[in-house]
Amino acid sequence: MRLFDPTSGSRDSAINSANNKALSCGSCSDCKRQRTSASWCKNCDIANLKEKFHSWTSGNSMIDEFIQYTQLNANDSTDYLEWIENLINSI
Ligand SMILES: [Zn+2]
Repeated sequence: MRLFDPTSGSRDSAINSANNKALSCGSCSDCKRQRTSASWCKNCDIANLKEKFHSWTSGNSMIDEFIQYTQLNANDSTDYLEWIENLINSI
C-alpha cells in the first residue's frame, strides 16, 4: 500500500518509532512512571497543563474543550494544541 499511499506508510513508521522511543526514554523523576517521550511524562505534564485550564480561554467553549482534549491526550510535548492569546492579538 505504501506505493499508492506514501502518507499511510510514513505515519505507521512514525507510530513505530514513537513506541520504540517510549521504551528508551526512561521513567519520570517525579512520579517514577514510564515517560512517553524524552521530554514528556503523561502523568505529570498533563497534570501541569490541567492546572492551567482556568488561566486561558479562547472565548469559545467548544474551542476550549477541543484544546483541552488535545492536552489531556498528548503523548509528547509537541503533541497538543495551546491557546496563545498574544499570537491572535498580533495578527
Ligand atoms: Zn511524572
